[in-house]
Amino acid sequence: MHERINTTEVVSGNVLIHQVEDLAIFLEQPYTIVPTPRVRNLMGEMHTLANGIIEVSEPQSFYELVMSELKRRLITDSMYLSRYTKEEFLQLNEVIDTYGISWDDVEQFEGWLDENTGKVEALNDRLSKESREHRSSVPIGSFKVRYEAEKVLDNKITSLRNFLSNSLADQPGVIELLKDYRFVADFIYSRSYHDGESKIVGFSTSKILYMRDGQVCVDEAELIRIFGHEVLGHTRQQVVTEGAEELPYFLRTKTGYAIDASGESISQYFQDRIFDYLLADPEAADGLGFDKPFEQIYQDYQNTQLLRNYWRNLEHFGIVTLARSSESDSKNQIDTLLRYSVDKSWPVDFVFRHRGDWDRSTGRLVPRIVHELRYSANPVGRIMSGVAIDKIAVAEGLILRGFWTPRGLEQWVNFNLEDNHQIK
Ligand SMILES: [Zn+2]
Repeated sequence: MHERINTTEVVSGNVLIHQVEDLAIFLEQPYTIVPTPRVRNLMGEMHTLANGIIEVSEPQSFYELVMSELKRRLITDSMYLSRYTKEEFLQLNEVIDTYGISWDDVEQFEGWLDENTGKVEALNDRLSKESREHRSSVPIGSFKVRYEAEKVLDNKITSLRNFLSNSLADQPGVIELLKDYRFVADFIYSRSYHDGESKIVGFSTSKILYMRDGQVCVDEAELIRIFGHEVLGHTRQQVVTEGAEELPYFLRTKTGYAIDASGESISQYFQDRIFDYLLADPEAADGLGFDKPFEQIYQDYQNTQLLRNYWRNLEHFGIVTLARSSESDSKNQIDTLLRYSVDKSWPVDFVFRHRGDWDRSTGRLVPRIVHELRYSANPVGRIMSGVAIDKIAVAEGLILRGFWTPRGLEQWVNFNLEDNHQIK
């Protein structure tokens, strides 16, 4: 176990990050206003402290690791605060830097599309020849139907909960989250989520439930994927980090955006990983009692995985294309996107969909859209691709431990995986 680092810089850093957290809490209260002078003052103090710290690219000690991360966190969190003090919206590069996302991750969309669009087209063509069943959306305006739908989904969520307690109880954070968190169906939000304050994991029904032949049905592959993402990823990171006493306060506190980018990378890893666990344990997979046999659920998951990655990369490439362009340049935007769009009508639709997302004063795409790129940071992909099979479990425990910036997460895991710096 590492010694807790208590240098003057870390103590001061903890105090400043605490103030960022207090500011966020203050702004959650009704009718409050951003206290601009206080925010500017706090940003000034963060910069002064950051300037006095040297960032080391390959830390040789836990001390160097923590100090480098403190510097990155102070810089990214102060950029996060700048959205409250600037008189115009943040630009593309400022948003990316606020998330601590590596530019390699942002620049790779086009390369990915170049390599995979042909495969996507072939897969889609094959899938289009298979026979399918109708799917229509659940009429959630009806209380009766919603009640019925909630029961159907609750049963499956309970099965997955049981799978955690029966098969994965020895994994970090599982017992704690089962004790503290409620898993609920959410008919209003279009995205699933976890919330550490309300201790709730919400499963957005919009992508999981559908109607067929008068019955509410569950897309079981999608439910498992979302369960892996929200529960094994986000929720576990929260509970494991809360218990990581060896880490300084600032690494156990959620502020700013940079740790969100890492969090998404962690959760995307576990949304795939949960299928490995089920595949390796056929008894548990059958024990879920799902409607489809697990082999078929797994096949559905594999089929949609490439399509899902395609849509993500295409949307992200679209956002970057728009953000580097201007409102009046629709023709070039559409031409650029057409190069990778299997559906030839998609680019014009995408550009039209964002017609209201331009800032009229600067002519730039509004940052709200650019924020989607937080899903593009890939520190965990880089970490896990270099991990030996016998170290995977240790590495998985490490990525859940602490709220790190993307760069810090890579340093933290690599540092601990080196033989001479074993965590325990
Ligand atoms: Zn997420």
